[in-house]
Amino acid sequence: MRIDILTALPSLLESYFNDSILLRARKKGLAEVHLHDLRDWSTDRHRRIDDYAFGGGAGMVLMVEPVHRAIAQLRAERRYDEVIYMSPDGELLDQPMANRLSAHSDLIILAGHYKGVDERIREHLITREISIGDYVLSGGELPAAVLSDALIRLIPGVLNDETSALSDSFQDGLLAPPVYTRPSEYNGWQVPEVLQSGHAARIAEWRQQQSIERTRRRRPGLLEGP
Ligand code: SAM
Repeated sequence: MRIDILTALPSLLESYFNDSILLRARKKGLAEVHLHDLRDWSTDRHRRIDDYAFGGGAGMVLMVEPVHRAIAQLRAERRYDEVIYMSPDGELLDQPMANRLSAHSDLIILAGHYKGVDERIREHLITREISIGDYVLSGGELPAAVLSDALIRLIPGVLNDETSALSDSFQDGLLAPPVYTRPSEYNGWQVPEVLQSGHAARIAEWRQQQSIERTRRRRPGLLEGP
C-alpha cells in the first residue's frame, strides 16, 4: 500500500511515520507513506497556500490551485484508488471502513487546515471524505495519521502476529476481552485463573464471554448490529 499525504505541516507527521509499526511496515516493503508539503505546489513567491474567504468571515481557506496541482502531479505518476479529504463532516471512520480501505493499494489523503478547503477541491478533486469523530481539530494531520495507522496495521505481515488485528475490538462487532501479563499476582491483584490454565478451549470461551459482557456494558449499540 502507498499513501501520499498532502499537508501544510508535514513536519507534524514525520516522527509518527518513522517509528514503531509504521516504520516496520515500511522496512518490510508492505507500506509506504509519502508526506508532501502543499507549499511545494504554490505558485506564490511567498509559498502561500491559503487566502481570505469570499464573503468575509473569520479564518483562512486552503486554496484550490496548489491542491489541484499536487493531486494532478501525483495522479500523472500512478493510479490512485481514492483521493480522501479528512473532514469533520465526512463519513465516520469505523473498523469495517478501515478493513475495506486497507485492501486498496494507492491512496491520496488531503489534510485540511485553517477554516477548511475551497469547496471546489471537494467538488472536483476528492473522491471520498472521512471524519475521525464528531469534534473539530485544528488540522487534518492527526486525522490523516489516524486513518493511515488504522489501514496499515491491517495489511498482512505488518503486525508480528497476523491474528492480532483480527482479535481487536470491533472486528467481530464486539469489544476485545481484557488482557494480562506477568506477574500473575501483583499487590494482591490476581490474573484470572482460567488464563493460566493452559486450556485453550476454556480460555477461548472465557474471552468470548468477557467480550460480550464488556460490549453489553460499554457499547450496547454494537450488539444490535449495523
Ligand atoms: N470549519 C470546518 C468545519 O466546521 O467543519 C473545520 C475546519 S478544521 C479547523 C481544519 C481541518 O482539520 C479540516 O479541514 C480537516 O481536514 C481537519 N479536521 C478537523 N477535525 C476533523 C475530524 N473530526 N475528522 C477529520 N478531519 C478533521
